[in-house]
Amino acid sequence: MYPAEFEYFSPATVNEALDLLARHGDDAKILAGGQSLLPMMKLRIASPRYLVDVNGIEALAGLRREGDRLVIGALCRHADIAASSLVREHLPIMWDAANLTADVQVRNRGTVAGSLAHADPAGDWPAALLALDTMVTIAGPDGIRTTPLGEFIVDAYTTQLGASEMVTDVSVGIPPEPNGGAYVKFEKRAGDFAVASVGVQIELDEHEHCRSVAITLGALGPTPLRAGSAEALLRGSALLRGSSVAGSASDSAPDSALNGASAERLVEAERLVRDAADPFADTRGSVAYKRHLAGVLFRRAFAVALDRAHGRTVATLHP
Ligand SMILES: Cc1cc2nc3c(=O)[nH]c(=O)nc-3n(C[C@H](O)[C@H](O)[C@H](O)COP(=O)(O)OP(=O)(O)OC[C@H]3O[C@@H](n4cnc5c(N)ncnc54)[C@H](O)[C@@H]3O)c2cc1C
Repeated sequence: MYPAEFEYFSPATVNEALDLLARHGDDAKILAGGQSLLPMMKLRIASPRYLVDVNGIEALAGLRREGDRLVIGALCRHADIAASSLVREHLPIMWDAANLTADVQVRNRGTVAGSLAHADPAGDWPAALLALDTMVTIAGPDGIRTTPLGEFIVDAYTTQLGASEMVTDVSVGIPPEPNGGAYVKFEKRAGDFAVASVGVQIELDEHEHCRSVAITLGALGPTPLRAGSAEALLRGSALLRGSSVAGSASDSAPDSALNGASAERLVEAERLVRDAADPFADTRGSVAYKRHLAGVLFRRAFAVALDRAHGRTVATLHP
């Protein structure tokens, strides 16, 4: 299929892009990597009359550290994240997500900011980044504002963005050490969207107790979800002390490695994660199947995040 006719603009600055958006309102769409927008235009699910291609705006490129935050320019591609040693060392949950998103071609073009703006319920970036302290920077006619990712995405394919606004960057807090994170995904075919996915980010205190934990669910609701009750159960617990799940991402490893009380807590956490999931049935699976997956993936992500928090090298979860 061919897209409907449109007028193409290639602004060189954010202000030029904002002027175009202000002039054309709902009839205009930003084009970043084009990996979601162009397929939708070809299927005529989207038919914007004006395309504002932001790829020529140099200020939107790049990935940089600013103090204790990682700033991801709106043109930063999935592949840039996958190739970043900073990400791999300090934010491995993002490294997982980058490597698990789609295939090489899509990763070379698609952007993190575009994924958040698109807000696909099965998108990998919304689910992975919700486990971190993630802020979205939005430029619009009234200036610049920042909003937490949890508030930015309001429903399936729906964000806070107004018609005359655009994302200029996404910033992520680099968690204090010791910490560990992991993002795991179950897909029907390599490179496909998730049937279900889970992110876990753990911080330990000086006694190696759980200082904080975030558990996020992808493709398990209209928006990415936090499993708040499971987080509360694990927070402050000694569950992590002395555990040894090195190199494992299997379903049973955490239980066998933890003492009885810890294992029971983990089983209860898994139940709470399943309860937090709010999936819908589709061609990828039934509600019961996706709920089951939520529990299994939680256990895998937890085991890897814990290993990483203990400084252990973990075999990659992706090709
Ligand atoms: C074959 C295939 C497989 C895929 N598999 C996966 C997968 O496994 N997991 C996954 O998460 N995704 C997957 N995707 C989607 C891919 O990750 C996209 O790159 C991503 O969803 C959108 O990023 P983009 O830069 O390509 O955005 P675009 O397609 O350019 O834009 C998407 C939407 O976001 C808006 N937008 C983009 N940038 C901005 C901005 N800076 N400010 C405001 N609005 C903006 C656009 O106007 C549009 O509405 C797949 C895509 C394809 C084609």
